[in-house]
Amino acid sequence: MNASLASQREIAKQPEPSPAVARFLKRGPRLLIGGEWVESKSKQLVSVIDPATGREIATVADADQADVDRAVVAARAAFEKGPWPEMTPAQREVLLWRLSDLIEKNADELSELESVNNGKTKFMASIIDVPGTRNYFRYMAGWATKITGDTISTSIGGIPGAKFHTYTSREPVGVCAQIVPWNFPLAMAAWKLAPALAAGCTCILKPAEQTPLTALRLGELIIEAGFPPGVVNILTGLGETAGAALVAHPGVDKIAFTGSTSVGKLINKSATDTLKRVSLELGGKSPVVIFPDADVNAAIGGASNAIFFNHGQVCCAGSRLYAHRSVFDQVVEGISGAARSIKLGPGLDPQTQMGPLVSKEQQDRVLGYIESGRKQGASVMTGGGAPSNPGYYVEPTVLVNVKPEMRVVREEIFGPVLVAQRFDDINEIAAMANDTEYGLSASVWSKDLSTVHRIVPKIRAGTVWVNCHNFVDPNMPFGGFKQSGFGREHGRSAIELYTEIKSVCMAI
Ligand code: ADP
Repeated sequence: MNASLASQREIAKQPEPSPAVARFLKRGPRLLIGGEWVESKSKQLVSVIDPATGREIATVADADQADVDRAVVAARAAFEKGPWPEMTPAQREVLLWRLSDLIEKNADELSELESVNNGKTKFMASIIDVPGTRNYFRYMAGWATKITGDTISTSIGGIPGAKFHTYTSREPVGVCAQIVPWNFPLAMAAWKLAPALAAGCTCILKPAEQTPLTALRLGELIIEAGFPPGVVNILTGLGETAGAALVAHPGVDKIAFTGSTSVGKLINKSATDTLKRVSLELGGKSPVVIFPDADVNAAIGGASNAIFFNHGQVCCAGSRLYAHRSVFDQVVEGISGAARSIKLGPGLDPQTQMGPLVSKEQQDRVLGYIESGRKQGASVMTGGGAPSNPGYYVEPTVLVNVKPEMRVVREEIFGPVLVAQRFDDINEIAAMANDTEYGLSASVWSKDLSTVHRIVPKIRAGTVWVNCHNFVDPNMPFGGFKQSGFGREHGRSAIELYTEIKSVCMAI
């Protein structure tokens, strides 16, 4: 490691896992296909690492084309035959609720598993990821019984005296391949599975290769909840093999993907060959705009959380700060102080406030960005280094003296690194906030309603928070403008992603 990147922070030892998690980690590699746990045809394995120690804690299967074929056959059969298509919406609702109850019952184990696999603290997983996942299944359970069509007035002419009765229905889109990232492994699985199941689709879930463990545990709970075989299939494996095979497979009707913009583009291209339905929730470089009249202390707390929550590994992280010149120094001092006070450590240590990044690759990437910022002339206000311990830690970092053309300002870092810029003219701030290829989210901080209502429509982003950041809700649409993707998850929009509209036109 470059000497300038060394940090003096002390890092505690990762405590031993609980007996329940230790037992789970010993289960062999397996895939969930057609309601059964089966071996992968590939016989290839992927190592699962605890990012707090850098040590292997489990191995999972690397599914290949033959496994993808089997999963698609199982999902197709479950979609077309057997109990699933015969179930009433209310019966699907009951299954989703049962699953949410099982998530609640196993919350402690799921939180711990998420922590040792992803690096986030068990505490955070227990107050955000796991209850969020439970609530997501509950919320979408309610949608199963609320999917409706319209009756349509038509003016079809040409046949004297003819009359038509016309209506639309929403039908499940079919077999869905759902590819999720490693930053919120369980919650992202829920965002994908819950609306698809509420709509009556069948699913093949592929967790990220770095973080497959909670998806596998969720698979066990899905069986326990009583979902019919083949309704949910889970394939662990690499993106380039298992993921790419799913995207190309002609038996898949829809791809739902959350991940990087570069992979999103590849997926969109590949899915075009078979004209699959595609929804993409991709990267971001979200601005946090602090106006001169903001409640500065609230803004400092909010902006710190916007970038450091989940170690900055959040697609809607507030990674570009724009503070008005009159408050800039105070804001940057405040965020830097908050960054210095965050205790780094392993996820199972109750004292830890920020765990390691997910992988060595990610640590190197984030440190590489910090170094590139330095080389291009940025100054490090705080952080900028990594402790020398094993584990993929990066200090919460604030960079100042940055310029719009620097890589640290333009590219998504996906780590705890904030770039801070000042602005003078509030008429120019919308253009500065929009100076990015991304458009996932933004936050504006002001107590002046007129300022807020004038800026919000000018920001090209799927979510704009006002005096808050990073809040999501199952009922609030979430997704991107521009290269942050297309399609909206949550609420009615998520149901629309997983249904096709059928028009029925009846001559009467
Ligand atoms: P990151 O760069 O943050 O690791 P990725 O976009 O690479 O995120 O990964 C998100 C998900 O996409 C993971 O489940 C990964 O396995 C999958 N993936 C990566 N490459 C491909 C690909 N070529 N086709 C399909 N899925 C992929």
